[in-house]
Amino acid sequence: MCRHLGYLGPAVPLAALVHDPPHSLERQSYAPADMRGGGTVNADGYGVGWYPAPGGPAVRYRRAGAIWSDENLARLSRVVVSGAVLAAVRSATVGMPVVDTACAPFTDGRWLFSHNGRVADWPGSVVDLAGALPTEALLTLDAPTDSALLWALVRARLDAGAEPAAALADVVSEVAAAAPGSRLNLLLTDGTVLAGTTWTHSLWVRAGGGAVTLASEPLDDDPDWRELPDGRAVTADVTGVSVVDIKGMGRG
Ligand code: GLN
Repeated sequence: MCRHLGYLGPAVPLAALVHDPPHSLERQSYAPADMRGGGTVNADGYGVGWYPAPGGPAVRYRRAGAIWSDENLARLSRVVVSGAVLAAVRSATVGMPVVDTACAPFTDGRWLFSHNGRVADWPGSVVDLAGALPTEALLTLDAPTDSALLWALVRARLDAGAEPAAALADVVSEVAAAAPGSRLNLLLTDGTVLAGTTWTHSLWVRAGGGAVTLASEPLDDDPDWRELPDGRAVTADVTGVSVVDIKGMGRG
């Protein structure tokens, strides 16, 4: 279900993550190696977010459909360079719309967010969760999908001052309690730090040489890739990676 990646480090063309590696995000869209929870390809949509100027707001490009059919993105991704990238390909959960606005990354200012998974028993399971959000947040969801609601829940915590990994972990704990069986791999960046969660899907990290990448599947056969255990929240930047057990972070 969906594949996503986040990168921080020296500026690279988007293609160095999305198109060029042997197991690039584009390849993971049609030949993913580790799909769990249904779906065989990730051809319902895609999106890339990056930072034209370090410290500035994010730019996001997203479309419904298959990433391999977008020749314009393939060309643009050779000339657009950034030292911070978050990208995703989507396999829409059954019943959820296949539209541009349902594609990650979701964004607000400097934030870019992605969800790999599904909220169980959608949408009945989320009535209580949504009740914690202001009506305005519900009316301005990008799309009527679980991922868009998760982004609203995360953003509310960020707005309240939570650290990125704590915001993600808190949402995972709350949603997992309200909707057991949910799959909640989340990814978040502000261009300087990457935060992610592992909750029933794979997530790999490669760090070193002043760069760090988090990805649903390794982009190549570099032995430095290591898989993160399930149930963790990870915070990573170019100086290091820290991993904590979500259950030890309060709720859960
Ligand atoms: N449930 C989300 C959606 O439909 C994410 C799907 C996925 O991870 N495959 O957009």
